[in-house]
Amino acid sequence: VPSSLAEVQYITRIARFAAISIENANLFRQATTDRMTGLYSHHFFEKTLDEEMERARRYKSTFSVVMFDIDHFKKFNDTYGHVQGDLIIKEIARILTQSVRQVDFPARYGGEEFAVILPSVEAKGALVVAERLRKRVEKHEFPGESGPLHVTISVGVAEFDQEGTYAASEIVREADKALYQSKERGRNRVSCAPLAPA
Ligand code: GH3
Ligand code: MG
Ligand code: MG
Repeated sequence: VPSSLAEVQYITRIARFAAISIENANLFRQATTDRMTGLYSHHFFEKTLDEEMERARRYKSTFSVVMFDIDHFKKFNDTYGHVQGDLIIKEIARILTQSVRQVDFPARYGGEEFAVILPSVEAKGALVVAERLRKRVEKHEFPGESGPLHVTISVGVAEFDQEGTYAASEIVREADKALYQSKERGRNRVSCAPLAPA
């Protein structure tokens, strides 16, 4: 128990610092996460991508990006409603978080589009992650009002190109192209962007 005024003032000051730290942590979380899913926000994804790019260049290391989009989701919304659709997005976010490592950056890229940065991971490793995700979503029973519901995702993978002049947006463009290829080839599959020739 504090006995002097000085001690009370000292403890009060420490408590104030602690409160500021907690407040800062909350502000940081709010600024970097998507409110609906708890995943990283689009903005934070772009920022992290720039940093990862810089790191890969400087240390001659690599990283990969996995992007995916829910298949025929417009029809799903039309059939089951937007609220049910939102539940699917939240549950897919959970599956995503559980399917990647602590060091990875899973983000909600857009409405029903997701993207993950995998630091230090080559295309081969990213393909394993992508295929694991695809399978997990495919076999997942999403709770619905009158029984379990199913959705699938189409996935695109791209690895950082050390030799190229990749701008941050370019690896996303490559991953997105691969995703589009997955859609064209029939959906519920994984495609990988070809590595540019060295
Ligand atoms: P596909 O991707 O297989 O080509 O077909 P799609 O019907 O999924 O097409 P697209 O990806 O272009 O459509 C996105 C749809 O996702 C449209 C919109 O109604 C729905 N959507 C986007 N964001 C949300 C959201 O936050 N909640 C819900 N419930 N639906 C969303
Ligand atoms: Mg979409
Ligand atoms: Mg879609």
